[in-house]
Amino acid sequence: MKISVKTALVELDGDEMTRVIWALIKDRLILPHLDIKLEYYDLGVKERDRTDDAVTVAAAKAIARLGVGVKCATITPDAERVGEYSLKKAWPSPNGTLRGILDGTVFRKPITVRNIEPAVNAWRKPITIGRHAYGDLYKAVDFAVPGPGLAELVYTPAGGGAPTRLAVHEYSGPGVLMGMHNTDASIMSFAKACFAYALSERIDLWFAAKDTISKTYHARFKDVFAAEAAARASELRDAGISYRYLLIDDAVAQVIKHPGGFLWACTNYDGDVFSDMLASGFGSLGMMTSVLVSPGGAFEYEAAHGTVRRHYYEHLKGNPTSTNPIASIFAWSGALRKRGELDATPGVVRFADGLERAVIGLVEDGIVTKDLVALVEPSPAGYETTEGFIDKAAARLAAARA
Ligand code: NAP
Ligand code: MG
Repeated sequence: MKISVKTALVELDGDEMTRVIWALIKDRLILPHLDIKLEYYDLGVKERDRTDDAVTVAAAKAIARLGVGVKCATITPDAERVGEYSLKKAWPSPNGTLRGILDGTVFRKPITVRNIEPAVNAWRKPITIGRHAYGDLYKAVDFAVPGPGLAELVYTPAGGGAPTRLAVHEYSGPGVLMGMHNTDASIMSFAKACFAYALSERIDLWFAAKDTISKTYHARFKDVFAAEAAARASELRDAGISYRYLLIDDAVAQVIKHPGGFLWACTNYDGDVFSDMLASGFGSLGMMTSVLVSPGGAFEYEAAHGTVRRHYYEHLKGNPTSTNPIASIFAWSGALRKRGELDATPGVVRFADGLERAVIGLVEDGIVTKDLVALVEPSPAGYETTEGFIDKAAARLAAARA
């Protein structure tokens, strides 16, 4: 009997090896078991090019409307990709567009299994990173200073009035200069998304910055988080979780000795850096999940890795691949669980749990793709192809549901 999913799920297809994996997951793990309406958007780079990227905007609006989306990894084109796929131009990152429209925060959580020991001995439970995905270094204006001169920050009030000028540096020779910004609205929606995620997962929340040095900029982040913690004090107490602020260097030192099981909220650059540290510390990029949470309550699930380009070129040559599909499978299970929660359909939630159990069970039995061979203890004798792994997961899932 197929399980009926009440509300349509927004599906965002993608590129290269992950597109190949995507079709296999849908065909072998999802559609045989679920009666589901998928609102499909093809975010493959050729379709983005054909529609002048309108398809990405339409997909983002569909996620905002329906509440839950699941996304395949996509190419962010650079000059080389423009040539490779004969594109009209280097379209912006689809994830950037989705984040912009949904005003969301990205949470990355590693999938942990019993037989993969994290690189850091202390880590027992997943550490989730919440990365503020707006502003700072990523929207900075920078400038190569040609020679001696005064650099200033100038703010001109929109309604008229005297500009504020602050001296940045008196250059005696060439150098570099950068202007960074953030907004209260974005910091607030980041803080709200972090508290909402921590409460929904019932895990402690840490936020870390450098307010001792950055007494206005980083201090604003700290104050906004403190205000949100105060506003939600009773919810935090009821959930049995806590909020703490740390200096970023203290946080880094403590993370290495902590058993895990908490959400680490990071400013944009810290999140970029530490999410990669955690991904490799917990195992493989193929085991890192990602979810974009909007303050309006929309969720978009995906794998944290890209389109695994090198493997795709092997696939195109007709060679077998051994690409880890687990993070992509968990994008589907995460989206389906959330859909089931929002629709109050426990059968869909149970299906998502069962799908994850089937996959984790395989890995814990030593049935893995190549990337996990060196990580799994005891070391398996061999490894599965991409399709072979998905087929074994499908058989295990079907057996568990029979
Ligand atoms: P990638 O897809 O993250 O893969 C980089 C390398 O990491 C792979 O070559 C592979 O290493 C390993 N790897 C990643 N995922 C794996 C998996 N599931 N199983 C096994 N190994 C895995 O990055 P990329 O190949 O450099 O980038 C390709 C495209 O992805 C780019 O066009 C980029 O724009 C895009 N991208 C998209 C997203 C997204 O949509 N969220 C995120 C990042 C990048 P080995 O080659 O050593 O086996
Ligand atoms: Mg990074």
